[in-house]
Amino acid sequence: MQKIIDAHVHLSERGDDALIRFAGMNGLRYTLDELLDTMRRLEIMRGLLLSPPMRGGTPLPNQEIIGLCAKSSGMLAPVITAEPTAKEVKTAISLAEENKKEVKAFKIRLGYVKASAESPVFDKLYDYAESKGLPVLFHTGDTAFSTGDLSRAQPLTLDGLANKREELAMVLCHFGNPWFEDVAELIYKHPNVYADISGLVTPGAYAEKYAEWLAKKISEAIYFAAGAEKIIFGTDYPVSKHSETLALVRRLEVDEPDKEKILWRNAERVFHL
Ligand SMILES: [Zn+2]
Repeated sequence: MQKIIDAHVHLSERGDDALIRFAGMNGLRYTLDELLDTMRRLEIMRGLLLSPPMRGGTPLPNQEIIGLCAKSSGMLAPVITAEPTAKEVKTAISLAEENKKEVKAFKIRLGYVKASAESPVFDKLYDYAESKGLPVLFHTGDTAFSTGDLSRAQPLTLDGLANKREELAMVLCHFGNPWFEDVAELIYKHPNVYADISGLVTPGAYAEKYAEWLAKKISEAIYFAAGAEKIIFGTDYPVSKHSETLALVRRLEVDEPDKEKILWRNAERVFHL
C-alpha cells in the first residue's frame, strides 16, 4: 500500500478563521470530518496540524490544535506555533513538554510576525527543539495576505541560522515560493535544512500553466540538489487541495523512488513518525 504523510495541514472550528476564504475558493467545507475523509480516501495516513491564522492576525491557540488532534483517531499530530515574545516562547515550550508524545514540531510564522528567524527571542525555542530533535517549520516566501513582510520571509534569511544551528532540523514551508532556486541552494548546502511543497497549488487564471511551472521548478531543484531527500509533501489544506498537491508530485520529472521519499519517507525520518 502506498503510504503518504501530509506534513502541513491547517484546521479550526471557528468562524473567524482567515483561511475560510481559501477553503471557499477551493470548494472545501474545511471541517475535521472532511479532512479525515479526504485523507482516508487518498491513503494519507498522517497529517501534521498547524494553527491557521485568525482574522485579527493571531494564530489559533495551540491548545485548540492539540484538541483537534485528539479527536482525529491518531491521524493528526500537533505542531506548536511559537510567536515572538518571551512569554509565548516559554508557553510553547511548556506545551510541547506537556504533550511530548504527540507534538512533532514547532512553527514560526516568518513574514506574519515582527521578528526574523535569527531574532534572539527564539533562542530558547531553538535550544529546546535541538535538544529534543524536534524540527522547526518556517513560513517562507509569499504571504497569504498583502500585509505580509517579505523581507523576513525570504528563504535566504534562514542561511545564517542554519550555519549557527547545525543540529536544528529546519523545514522551509512552501519551498520559499517564488524563490525556488534559493531554497534549492539551502537544502543542498545544509544537511539540516528541508523544504515542503505545501500551499503552492492555488486556483486562478493560467492554473494549468502555473501547475506545470511549479512542477518544473521543483524538478529542477531536485536536479540541483542531486536528490529528493530534503523535500517533504504537504498540502497546506485548505489553501491547496489534497488531490491537486498529489497531482503536483505525479507531475515531477524525477524517478519513482524520489516521489516516494517526498510523499512519506522524508517526513517519517525528519519528524520521527
Ligand atoms: Zn500553512
